[in-house]
Amino acid sequence: MSIEIFPAPQKVIIPLQQHIGAPARPVVKKGDRVLIGQLLGEAGGFVSAPVHSSVSGTVLSVGLFPHPMGKQAMAVEIENDGLDEKVSSEPVESWQEADPKDLVSRIQAAGIVGMGGASFPTHVKLSPPEGKKIDVLLINGAECEPYLTADHRSMLERTDDLITGALILKKILGAKKCFIAVEDNKQDAIKSIVSAISASQNKGKLSVAVMRTKYPQGGEKQLINAVTKRMVPSGGLPMDAGCVVQNVGTALAVYDAIVKGVALYQRVLTVTGPTVSSPKNLLVRAGTPIRNLVEACGVDMKATKKIIMGGPMMGIAQSDLDAPIIKSTSGILALDNVVAGEREYPCINCGNCVQACSIHLVPTRLAKLVEKEKYDEALEWNITDCIECGSCSFVCPSKINLVQYMKLGKFHIQARRAAEAKKNEAR
Ligand code: SF4
Ligand code: SF4
Repeated sequence: MSIEIFPAPQKVIIPLQQHIGAPARPVVKKGDRVLIGQLLGEAGGFVSAPVHSSVSGTVLSVGLFPHPMGKQAMAVEIENDGLDEKVSSEPVESWQEADPKDLVSRIQAAGIVGMGGASFPTHVKLSPPEGKKIDVLLINGAECEPYLTADHRSMLERTDDLITGALILKKILGAKKCFIAVEDNKQDAIKSIVSAISASQNKGKLSVAVMRTKYPQGGEKQLINAVTKRMVPSGGLPMDAGCVVQNVGTALAVYDAIVKGVALYQRVLTVTGPTVSSPKNLLVRAGTPIRNLVEACGVDMKATKKIIMGGPMMGIAQSDLDAPIIKSTSGILALDNVVAGEREYPCINCGNCVQACSIHLVPTRLAKLVEKEKYDEALEWNITDCIECGSCSFVCPSKINLVQYMKLGKFHIQARRAAEAKKNEAR
């Protein structure tokens, strides 16, 4: 499915929280005229990202609106005037000559976040602490979940831009090696990238790593292990293994920010599922209501039991189709059979979940520990290494929603750590 440009809606709802970290602070008010790429919200801290307008038009309000993460959140509502007027772009003259710190500042100002779904601000990932040497950059071309094909199409349709985006990131990190990691079911993308590298001046500067197709190959730890054979230590980050992983969409957003001088205000996503009559890959403006995509792709709402933002394993079920597309929306999935919510049966100790876990955790034990609120023990059993891939829940014959226990346990542990840090600060 080639990427089609989705028309901008008459009205966009642009959330000030489209990333992990502090929400952006609004810098516009009702009645202001804004242009495409204009700043609507400035970053609320270092771990945060600014938010930009995806249309030209008039700000109708700044207030609470439905958010795809399942709650109301502050957003800027804009009436699109249809003129598509843009702020003037400011490309970097020669990124090859530029100071890496300036390039990171540009990426930060463009509001770029991880576009594989994690939405972690990219400038933070590109600023490893003093003493952490990064020697390998991995561009993640393994589609993060089943059904989604947006990254695959982007690799095919923007191959040269992807290579340049990867080289910009490599320069910033001072990495010796850069791999574009692609699963072996995407042979056309592999060929396209390999031939674009050989036809350019970039031979030897980066290469393609072909990986076996399996879920969750797109998880950072799995990807690092598959390509470099290195292991991220338990409780550690990719940088502890000398690696940084960036998604294909993120590398392309970096290209857009540095080479074209434009902020991140739109993205490619997949609309698909058993009840979708015209599945598509679409370039969509942030702030477009999910409803518009559902209607345009012919989703049979009578047959649809669930609309998910993201993929089937880690995506988030949507209760309000007025919630908008955000920077991290990799797909909209319409499903006709709902497994979640089915009755759970007792664990029969079959071991399926243990076999399914690519991190080598013991989900059945962890779920029991979380149920009994034994978080210290859950920590000893490395619950914080869980990547929330959902494979354990998927294979459980007793229909136990194991991944929910993992999420719950991690949430309580994180909350406890934050409370302890606050207490220590106050001392
Ligand atoms: S969700 Fe389950 S299978 Fe996936 S990493 Fe966590 S415990 Fe392992
Ligand atoms: S897959 Fe389900 S039933 Fe089997 S051991 Fe794990 S939790 Fe128990």
